[in-house]
Amino acid sequence: MAELGVDALLLSLGADLPWLTGYEAMPLERLTMLVLPADGAATLVVPALEAPRVAEDRSVFSLRPWSETEDPVAIVAGLVGRRRLLAVSDRTWASFVLALQDRLPGTAWRPSSEVTATLRAVKDEAEIAALRRAASAADRVAAQLMAGDVPLVGRSEAEVSADLGGRLRAEGHQRVNFAIVGSGPNSASPHHEPGPRRIRAGEAVVCDFGGAFDGYCSDITRTVFTGAPPAEFAELYTVLQRAQATAVAAATAGTACEAVDLAARRIIDEAGFGPHFIHRTGHGIGLEEHEHPYLVSGNAEPLVAGNAFSVEPGIYVDGRWGARIEDIVVATGSGPEALNTVSHDLAVVHG
Ligand code: ZN
Ligand code: ZN
Ligand code: ZN
Repeated sequence: MAELGVDALLLSLGADLPWLTGYEAMPLERLTMLVLPADGAATLVVPALEAPRVAEDRSVFSLRPWSETEDPVAIVAGLVGRRRLLAVSDRTWASFVLALQDRLPGTAWRPSSEVTATLRAVKDEAEIAALRRAASAADRVAAQLMAGDVPLVGRSEAEVSADLGGRLRAEGHQRVNFAIVGSGPNSASPHHEPGPRRIRAGEAVVCDFGGAFDGYCSDITRTVFTGAPPAEFAELYTVLQRAQATAVAAATAGTACEAVDLAARRIIDEAGFGPHFIHRTGHGIGLEEHEHPYLVSGNAEPLVAGNAFSVEPGIYVDGRWGARIEDIVVATGSGPEALNTVSHDLAVVHG
């Protein structure tokens, strides 16, 4: 905050607040907001009815519960006082930001991610341990999928998606964030919304799923084929597998984020699939599924030890088929560590 000249952080919805306090604000029309001045003590302004759920730690912040007839915007404005450069959490409702701007004329506003993103991107030991637990649980579900324990043929994508979500919970996730199942031609759509389409024999099925385990996120993709894959698909998959492994190996501390993207892209380009790799190679992960750093062309920032991110190249042949392989990887002082260790081979499942 001092470096950026930010006078106070105002944190409401999103991951910055739980990252600092352990408390996650409810997405409500009643305002919850931590006022954290650069030069003073932090105060959590919280609806009185939510206050019992907050574990107050006075060495970190104190509570200012507000009752139904009070104006929380006025309370926050009072705590801000004469401070002028304010960083507000990126996901704060516009209605609160606009009301605060009316109440605090002459202030300048920044997104809090300008302060927090690079700090949150460097995970400490406890956070890496939490990501590892989440990844291991996701691995167990992926192993079930690849072993053929999750019935595919004859079921709809939506049914398989619900099944994968249930398995994430059974393996310890408290929340399922998504379970993409794209079958046949739908496997060529990276963020396909699983629907009523029934999966048939002889198809590629891209399964990309994740959730929150003790607050930290998992995110894994494995592609399976229902029956023996045609040589053409097996070739595509071999290229993808090489691209993914090469990018993981390239993800060392000190390497530019865009160089990791390029490591995967070069292999896919050289095999002639360049135009079919239509998204960045990866995203940071932590309390949020997508956060800094982003492995994308144009991001010259070097990886640092403690960064956790996905490495997930894909090849998508429109109208026909697609494949993606995704692991969560941590950059460490002694090289990249993939948290997902389940097999990267194309799994052939029958049934
Ligand atoms: Zn994605
Ligand atoms: Zn994913
Ligand atoms: Zn991902």
